[in-house]
Amino acid sequence: MMNNWNPPGKNCGACGSQTCSDFVSRLETGLTELDMCPFYSIENTVEKTVRPEKIVSLKNLAIQARNTYSGVDVAGKEYDFVLLPFPDEPSARKFIVPFRADLVEKWDIKKGDLVTGRPAGPGCPVYHALRVLSANPVTGVIECHTVGPMVARKEDAHDIQAYHVHAFEGIASTIKRPPVFGTRQYFLPGNCMIGLAHTALVNMCFQKPSGLHVRLEDIRIL
Ligand code: SF4
Repeated sequence: MMNNWNPPGKNCGACGSQTCSDFVSRLETGLTELDMCPFYSIENTVEKTVRPEKIVSLKNLAIQARNTYSGVDVAGKEYDFVLLPFPDEPSARKFIVPFRADLVEKWDIKKGDLVTGRPAGPGCPVYHALRVLSANPVTGVIECHTVGPMVARKEDAHDIQAYHVHAFEGIASTIKRPPVFGTRQYFLPGNCMIGLAHTALVNMCFQKPSGLHVRLEDIRIL
């Protein structure tokens, strides 16, 4: 096991994996990092777990977010925080469900595939290209990163056409108010192409060496 550390077997899902053994498999394939498990973060200090240069780059990202984002979106709506990616990831993680969730099983959508479609559930007008991190053939939930639209011109994609956004996970950079567990708040996805605030229920908050890890569900553009 990496760094001689084993997850505690609580299978709580806070790392984004369904079980501790799934988490270990994802660690081994480079899809996640040790500090995604809050129990690792609790047991290890920032100094032990994160390279100094990484701490500097994360602090710079938070400062950059505060300097870049005003707290008011293009339509004049205020938002509380910006959702940034986890370290070394291209975007915040998105958990989507195609309007036809059975396509995940029918088309054998899996890790590494490219999926295209519009987040019609929350009301976004922009067609997205998404790189799959995992896909669940039972629920139809696809965990993915948003990647630039040019990627879809270079390789074949599963065009699911329309999907619901079930959840976002990433690092919250507070602009006006920090995320509070159990409340509905406005936030701006850091890579949002239309620059509109979204609203979501904050259903997980964990302070980690890399920042405040949040999970946001029931996402709408209101
Ligand atoms: S967060 Fe940690 S304890 Fe919970 S499932 Fe993931 S690895 Fe296991």
